[in-house]
Amino acid sequence: MHMNQKERLRHDWTRAELFAIYNKPLLELVYEAASVHRKWHNPEEVQISTLLSVKTGGCPEDCSYCGQAARYHTDIKVQALLPTETVLTHARKAKENGSSRFCMAAAWREVRDNRDFDRIIDMVKGVNDIGLEVCCTLGMLTESQAKRLQEAGLYAYNHNLDTSEEYYDEIISTRTFNNRINTINNVRKAGITVCSGGIIGLGETVADRIAMLLTLATMELHPESVPINALARVKGTPLENNPKVDIWDMVRMIATARIAMPASIVRLSAGRVEMNETEQAWCFMAGANSIFSGERETLLVTPNPGMSDDMTMFARLGLKPKVCQTT
Ligand code: SF4
Repeated sequence: MHMNQKERLRHDWTRAELFAIYNKPLLELVYEAASVHRKWHNPEEVQISTLLSVKTGGCPEDCSYCGQAARYHTDIKVQALLPTETVLTHARKAKENGSSRFCMAAAWREVRDNRDFDRIIDMVKGVNDIGLEVCCTLGMLTESQAKRLQEAGLYAYNHNLDTSEEYYDEIISTRTFNNRINTINNVRKAGITVCSGGIIGLGETVADRIAMLLTLATMELHPESVPINALARVKGTPLENNPKVDIWDMVRMIATARIAMPASIVRLSAGRVEMNETEQAWCFMAGANSIFSGERETLLVTPNPGMSDDMTMFARLGLKPKVCQTT
């Protein structure tokens, strides 16, 4: 990336501008996003992340989309923190399979300064030594915890906004939108890159979607990675009967994120299993340049395409996995 391009990043987007972009005639929108994408990224490359749930279920939070919240009656099996060696075995496998980023997720409300956190620190060091970009998503984080993770070699921290500030209370009551922003700020202060995006299909309006993108696109530094998720409807959660997300809504979200935050990686995340290859191709055309994939065919607790299906799709579309930046 050239320095003069960096200077052209905008952090002063307005709601009206993003709204106008999102609502453009679809083909115009995709054309514009695809053009921006080609100025900032190699359109043949898609970065592959592998996500491993290192501690599953039993979460005290009440995120109404999530099958891991203890209070909902879902089929998800609770799993205590995995042994470090098990996690490192998965990480080696992910690297062999072409992943460049390994993301470890724990269903915690927040990080506590206890032995489990010490183990996470060991996992971060171990995955870093394998030569993968290490990402964690562990809930809320203080500045000193973020610093410890950074010193262990953490490359990125995921903390999604989920939805707009206005709609947040409808989806989660156990924490606030401001808690989210504070954790993101703590991650930034520690010098870790930020992965933050959201989910559509929660019952939000287009105005909520725009508000969420506006929060991200007006940050002093755009998140380096912006996951756009379509709700994966988990049986037993309050949102299990929500309608399936329309593919064109996903395409519009991805395209708007791409135009507003041109240097960021835009990740086509949850919900991919319900999209066919043509629909996914539209998402790549709209500027998505990252996916989650792996041997396990799950994304935390919901189904996801496996690596071999994804490699077949990449071959057909002429895409290739992006090589890790840290090696
Ligand atoms: S999304 Fe995260 S914080 Fe919310 S219930 Fe699920 S595991 Fe807990």
